[in-house]
Amino acid sequence: MSNTTGAAVRFEKVQKSYDGEVMVVKDLNLDIAPGEFLTMLGPSGSGKSTCLMMLAGFEPATNGEIYLNDKAINSVPPNKRGIGMVFQNYALFPHMSVAENLAFPLKVRGISSKDIDEKVKHTLDLVELGAFGNRRPAQLSGGQQQRVAVARALVFEPELILMDEPLGALDKQLREQMQYEIKHIHERLGVTVVYVTHDQTEALTMSDRVAVFEDGIIQQLSPPDELYESPQNSFVAQFIGENN
Ligand code: ADP
Ligand code: MG
Repeated sequence: MSNTTGAAVRFEKVQKSYDGEVMVVKDLNLDIAPGEFLTMLGPSGSGKSTCLMMLAGFEPATNGEIYLNDKAINSVPPNKRGIGMVFQNYALFPHMSVAENLAFPLKVRGISSKDIDEKVKHTLDLVELGAFGNRRPAQLSGGQQQRVAVARALVFEPELILMDEPLGALDKQLREQMQYEIKHIHERLGVTVVYVTHDQTEALTMSDRVAVFEDGIIQQLSPPDELYESPQNSFVAQFIGENN
């Protein structure tokens, strides 16, 4: 059967249960276009992180199939999926310099040290940390550390980046600045981003489309303006209208 959809990511009838009883992701069907900034938005416990974990390969889907560029990946290990990841607790290696933190995922992939040096320099320049390569993470501000985490996810030029509440630990002003910077990087690189947040404003300002999750189900999948102007049901209307 020919199965070319052109989607960068496809969830097809994906279900997830951790305990064999409760489905925390119920029946997920979602196509994400190449270069799209897709945000999974929803309250705590609605299944957003579980979707990213399945996409990254850290949790198996209980049922259904996930595709990257039309290739079924359920049996592909995480390090072979070509996905960059940024999480809230970005876990930089404290004993390594910023440059060494970026070099690490490249070394793991067996890239030559000359190429590593070039890629690290290029990526640090991209996030405007070119002058900070020799510092330790502890010698940087929270926002700079988060930018290093973004750079580390970008350094091996993944086609797909997953971000799970990456700005949750930052104060409001820094969060807004980082939203802008992440958006800017996305626009310049054209990389596909799947972004998870429970913050309505963040989702509405950053995304091409937003998938609103409730209890393991997508209640609405729309561009931000549509979500705001015509919520499809009372859950979406209420959730979008809430202030954090
Ligand atoms: P969200 O990211 O939207 O807050 P999660 O995907 O983390 O939601 O969680 C969805 C549901 O799955 C929750 O009820 C949560 O308690 C449960 N859950 C998440 N991770 C695990 C796990 N590793 N083991 C068991 N249950 C889990
Ligand atoms: Mg989560």
